Amino acid sequence: MSSFVVSARKYRPSSFDEVLGQGQVTNTLKNAILNDQLAHAFLFTGPRGVGKTSTARILAKVLNCSDRQEQGTVACGVCNSCKAMEDTASFNIIELDAASNNSVDHMRMLNEQVRFRPQEGKYKIFIIDEVHMLSNASFNAFLKTLEEPPDYAIFILATTEKHKILPTILSRCQLFDFRRIPISEIVKQLELIAEKEGIKIDQDAMHLIAQKSDGAMRDSLSIFDKIASTFKGEKIGYKEVATSLNLLDYDYFFKAVDSMVQGDLAGMFVLYDEIIRNGFDPEAFIQGLTAHVRDLLMTKSPQTLELIQTSDEQKKRYKDQSKLCSQSFLISSLDLLTRAAIDLQRANNQHLLVEVALSKMTYLNTQIEIGSDQKKNSLSQVTN
Ligand SMILES: [Zn+2]
Repeated sequence: MSSFVVSARKYRPSSFDEVLGQGQVTNTLKNAILNDQLAHAFLFTGPRGVGKTSTARILAKVLNCSDRQEQGTVACGVCNSCKAMEDTASFNIIELDAASNNSVDHMRMLNEQVRFRPQEGKYKIFIIDEVHMLSNASFNAFLKTLEEPPDYAIFILATTEKHKILPTILSRCQLFDFRRIPISEIVKQLELIAEKEGIKIDQDAMHLIAQKSDGAMRDSLSIFDKIASTFKGEKIGYKEVATSLNLLDYDYFFKAVDSMVQGDLAGMFVLYDEIIRNGFDPEAFIQGLTAHVRDLLMTKSPQTLELIQTSDEQKKRYKDQSKLCSQSFLISSLDLLTRAAIDLQRANNQHLLVEVALSKMTYLNTQIEIGSDQKKNSLSQVTN
């Protein structure tokens, strides 16, 4: 049997400080533990794959550890309770995935379990994932338990859809909002794992993985695992990731903007044709080009440079290209692109629509020049 363990599991955080990008949540939890102000029910909300369940498990482990470290905020990892938790054999921590266990009977069973005191450790902890999936009847069955929990019972509920949680449940829980993890933090973590696993991967490749996972560490790690196994022993660069994810290489966008600023309409059409022949659809191209032009605009000023999330090497390329583009060209291009994106959805001939938008953008520079010349002329007429 293969001994491969997916990175999401292998590198799962085991203490509050190891949870990525959720400092506001973990610090509040640590303070609540320090000041002995813990609620009986918690609701962890936020997008998928950002550390809700991991944090719930860490909290559960800390609470039941018999030899807590660092003023009580870190589990020892060696006591019976910690060991049982690590072997997923703890009877005091009950995990329920409401996506598949959402019937009233499941809730009754859970209510039954709440009645029994913990065998060892102080608390019996119930982690209910995807709690919004409970039916109304199940919610009501559960509510009674939540209203009058025994002092040893702690509930940690997690959901990606806070708006679906009944107000009666919300009002009984201490709420914690988990955020998307910043790309820079995901990249740092990927870097660390790559080093430990002896995988050679460059910065641009890691940035692309982080961008594509939309702030979710779990998704980043599963993309990372997939690419690492496809390119075993090879150096992984941006191109390898782009190919694996079936994404347009950013070189295309650099080339497209080069053609536009040079007014090279033929070059632009040939490039677009090549993209389509490589199997990409017009929408993906327009979306990618919009993001590219937006990044060029952000590169124009040192204050907004930080708003583009890419490697330093890539930032330099953006800076170089943005010097060739006027601000008005970039803003007008964005306007044309966003309009094209809307029109694409109901266009009969998508290719033609994109080609028209590209022609307009290619001629923008000349238009802008003509525009400013006209302005100058009219101004000189006024002064004359
Ligand atoms: Zn312990």
